[in-house]
Amino acid sequence: MAAVQTACEKCGAELVPDSAYCERCGTRTQRARRLVRVALRVEVVFFLLVVAMVVAFILVYAVQK
Ligand SMILES: [Zn+2]
Repeated sequence: MAAVQTACEKCGAELVPDSAYCERCGTRTQRARRLVRVALRVEVVFFLLVVAMVVAFILVYAVQK
């Protein structure tokens, strides 16, 4: 885990704690980028689950025929 970011890495402005964007230039903070990465991973896992379920249903259907 990285230390809490206190200043914008682009313009150097001080950041509000737990903020997702720099108030001065709008650059995303490291915390916000990490959250986006986590959200993307959750989405990929969910998509793979749906695909696995569809494949399982097709297999069950093929076996029952
Ligand atoms: Zn900034």
